[in-house]
Amino acid sequence: MGPGMRSTKIVATIGPASRDPEVLEQMIKAGMDMARLNFAHGDPAEHAETARLIRAAAERAGREVAILGDIPGPKLRIGPVGGDGVAELGRGTNVVLTSDSVDGSSARLPVAWRGFAELVDEGDVLYLADGAVRLRVSEVTGPDVVTHVEVGGSVASRQGLNLPNVTVSLPAVSDEDIALVDAGIDMGLDYFALSFVRRREDLEPVHEHLRSRGSDIPLIAKVEKPQAAANGEEIVDAADGIMIARGDLGIELPIEEVPLVQKRLLALAGRAAKPTITATQMLESMVHSTRPTRAEVADVANAIFDGTDAVMLSQETAVGRHPVLAVSMMASIATATERELPYGRWLAERGPQANNQYHAIAFGAVGGVYQLGLKGIVAPTNTGTTVRLISAYRPRAPVLALSPSRDVVRRCQLLWGVTAVLHEEPMETLDLIEACARAAVHHGLASVGDRIGITAGLPAGRSGGTNLFKVHTVE
Ligand code: PGA
Ligand code: MN
Repeated sequence: MGPGMRSTKIVATIGPASRDPEVLEQMIKAGMDMARLNFAHGDPAEHAETARLIRAAAERAGREVAILGDIPGPKLRIGPVGGDGVAELGRGTNVVLTSDSVDGSSARLPVAWRGFAELVDEGDVLYLADGAVRLRVSEVTGPDVVTHVEVGGSVASRQGLNLPNVTVSLPAVSDEDIALVDAGIDMGLDYFALSFVRRREDLEPVHEHLRSRGSDIPLIAKVEKPQAAANGEEIVDAADGIMIARGDLGIELPIEEVPLVQKRLLALAGRAAKPTITATQMLESMVHSTRPTRAEVADVANAIFDGTDAVMLSQETAVGRHPVLAVSMMASIATATERELPYGRWLAERGPQANNQYHAIAFGAVGGVYQLGLKGIVAPTNTGTTVRLISAYRPRAPVLALSPSRDVVRRCQLLWGVTAVLHEEPMETLDLIEACARAAVHHGLASVGDRIGITAGLPAGRSGGTNLFKVHTVE
């Protein structure tokens, strides 16, 4: 930590290219703050093993890393494609999508959903291969949906199938999704994300299940449906954070709308002090290349200007040739961009919320960074709440979160500007202040003579009552 530290957080998707102890350790050293396990692929036993590898690599790297379990939700997929697993769909030809279990080919593709044929009508448009292939329904007969290939291309086994204008009556959370939540709890994950959320109620089954298991793992809503973009306020309110999932969003909405949704929802979530992740194709060309395009670099920088807490790597680290380079490139772009962010404007726009003690203290502490030039903020925390608020007000100085809970320390890894470390809280007020000051020096936040801000809840050791902000000169 120290003046050169990076504030924007980096999420990296783990896959065949990175599920290796050495690569994971290098990715953590290069700056990965959170690893994403994509539960849409692979099986729970494999993900549990990956989670163990990540924990071991973090241990070797000497740093806590969060792990996110990404739940597939109501995503339609095609089934297995025969032969080499790829089928070429020629423009102008017909292809039948069927809920019968057939081996996929360029004439027939299986869809793993029994009610599929009842979902669609003649004239509906379907997309495959991340939107690259466009099909139009010409006829529905029994389990068969006959489509006309309007834009051709190759499709592969298990690829997603998007129906942007069809109200899919799939449940927001299936039994398989709940089984994945169970598996994730057992793996000791730090966050869940739920795909294809449309409205706040969609989050309830997961929240309910977490409660029934006595778990308070935070749940991130993935914004990748037009309905989610339209229902931004209620989703931000109900979720513990949001992901701007631009991959599916760019198929489900006209692609030119994606930057506007990104800006609007990042601003909404920022005002609500909910952490945000901007995802997909950020450094896409690094799947093959050692250098990103200028446009990709600008995209990462712009997401940070838009106020995102974290930027995410998908294919780049899951299947790409340069997973470690992609992480370090992300870190370099973030560090450079952070020199010129509209810090004070965010503080003013996100304002303190009316009559809320936590917000008032967080707002005061971040204000102190700008008014008094505080070198950093040290925040002992039992729940992470105050730290989340301080982060949302975007101090131009490092925030050191000290928590006796390893879970809280790991969850804080997603928060912009926050470094979190395990720390037992002393019980006496003066000891607590001294311990904070010592931690600030130890972690390179400040040196003797510097002024820092300290937030705390007194009496110490009781959870959930931040009620103090001290301007402290380090002695
Ligand atoms: P996915 O979500 O990678 O799980 O599809 C992200 C996105 O759609 O952008
Ligand atoms: Mn998606």
